[in-house]
Amino acid sequence: MKNLSVFNRSLLVVFFSLPLLVTSCSSDDTDASISSTDVDNVSVINLNALTEAVDSVPLDTLSSAETEGMLFMREEEKLAHDVYVFLYGRWHANVFDSISVSEQTHTDAMLFLLDRYAVDDPVGDNAEGVFVDATLQGLYETLVAQGNASLIDALIVGAEIEEIDLVDIQNLVDALEGNDDMALVYQSLMEGSRNHLRAFVRNLEQQGVVYQPQYLSPDVYETVVF
Ligand code: MN
Ligand code: MN
Repeated sequence: MKNLSVFNRSLLVVFFSLPLLVTSCSSDDTDASISSTDVDNVSVINLNALTEAVDSVPLDTLSSAETEGMLFMREEEKLAHDVYVFLYGRWHANVFDSISVSEQTHTDAMLFLLDRYAVDDPVGDNAEGVFVDATLQGLYETLVAQGNASLIDALIVGAEIEEIDLVDIQNLVDALEGNDDMALVYQSLMEGSRNHLRAFVRNLEQQGVVYQPQYLSPDVYETVVF
């Protein structure tokens, strides 16, 4: 499965790299202006501390919305991880590498929740870029194509993903009936997303781009970024 995953990703990279062979190299192909200090505070979850806190909370009954929410968020965090792995391969900007590591801890945290409630994992051995949920499959393909165009487009894709995460996770938190263990995990994921959104917005600033929020309300966006 590991080999298949690498093979599929290589095909994708080759496919999207082809147009470059017939165009001249642009300055977008370097990330010299992105320093590693911009990604220092993207915070990887301390999974041990989180799972310990979650385990101290008694199990609660599962509503169908709570089950669907866990299944969706397990794959939404995988989507963030897989898109950033692709974008790092395409642009070699450290921000994508660092944040993809953080996203792996987020999707691991969701697997921990699914296991805790004995709900079947939708991810299993699925390769990067492969999703059970059709909406997420379509979103992955759209975002990868968008981020392939230029480094600035790729950074905008990053900011978009983090905005979408924040909106979706807040909706899941609002729909919880009890289940404080889930609330703990979702709050941890949102803290990560706020850090990631700030990192992408700062990196865009370094490229001379002022990011405009597309999913969060201006008020919420301001509290996250400023
Ligand atoms: Mn995340
Ligand atoms: Mn994120």
